Amino acid sequence: MSDKAETGDTTAEAQPISQELLEILACPIDKSPVKLVGDRLVCQEQGHKYRIEDGIPIMLVDEVEQ
Ligand SMILES: [Zn+2]
Repeated sequence: MSDKAETGDTTAEAQPISQELLEILACPIDKSPVKLVGDRLVCQEQGHKYRIEDGIPIMLVDEVEQ
């Protein structure tokens, strides 16, 4: 089922992932919300860092950068 909202918001911000996706993501280790710092996702609880590749956050425990 597709319910994609067309906002027409085409601001040229070079954000590697969408705000929408950012809001549903959580750190796999401590389940805390993550924020975007540069081109990394950083968890707000313990600061675990995750890479983003081609718009896909690599949120694997094995790939975490402490
Ligand atoms: Zn974490």
